[in-house]
Amino acid sequence: MYHLVQDLPGPMAVPPGHFREQMELLADGPYTVVTEDDLHTMLDRGVPLPANAVLITFDDGYANTVTTALPVLDRYRLPALMAVCGGYLGAERPRHVPHPVQEMADLDQIQLWAASGRAVAAHSYTHRNLTSLSDRALDWQTAGDHEVLTDLLGRPPRTFAYPYGAYDARVQRAVAARYPLALATDDHHPPDLSHPYALSRIQVDPGWSLHAFRTALDSHTAPAAAQQAARTADALIRTTPEEPRR
Ligand SMILES: [Zn+2]
Repeated sequence: MYHLVQDLPGPMAVPPGHFREQMELLADGPYTVVTEDDLHTMLDRGVPLPANAVLITFDDGYANTVTTALPVLDRYRLPALMAVCGGYLGAERPRHVPHPVQEMADLDQIQLWAASGRAVAAHSYTHRNLTSLSDRALDWQTAGDHEVLTDLLGRPPRTFAYPYGAYDARVQRAVAARYPLALATDDHHPPDLSHPYALSRIQVDPGWSLHAFRTALDSHTAPAAAQQAARTADALIRTTPEEPRR
């Protein structure tokens, strides 16, 4: 899980030089970078993912995901997913949102990303902590993003990423009404693919060496045999209290 890819320091800003090295490792190392499609095919039809499967994701929809990260992904021919807030994409940028709207990708940039064949996922309409909302506001946050992205992509988005990684059973049910899959943030465990509404991710730390990046990946990837999903109704929702993250 990435947010910003830029040289300005910040807790979520991975320097472009590190990012390039990481992508080179993913392209040439013992990993298989999978697509959003691969993940959904695995969940829908039980087609196992390859060993050491990695999904590259970017949250929030920053302009530098398109201007800085995309050329590197192109160079190494890597698929990726970008989770965006529909409310950031309209002509009228919303007020009182947690991101500086001038740093966010605009509609043309999101379309450029989508036209490259990479996935666009939902991240709520205006990046609210969904666990704190009324039922009605929760529904609006998941529905609004769904509507904007359906218009943009010509088909419904299939993956949702919880803002701040915050969810509970009520949020999971609201998300499950519109999306077949939801991504959480880092809970220091490998993702459990039998719980597609709580798939944990590794947040790439800006200070990691390439060795640290690789160690983090290796501690989170599971053997292919362990990744076959048992998609029973009860198993879909698993709640884990998490510290809110961006
Ligand atoms: Zn976010």
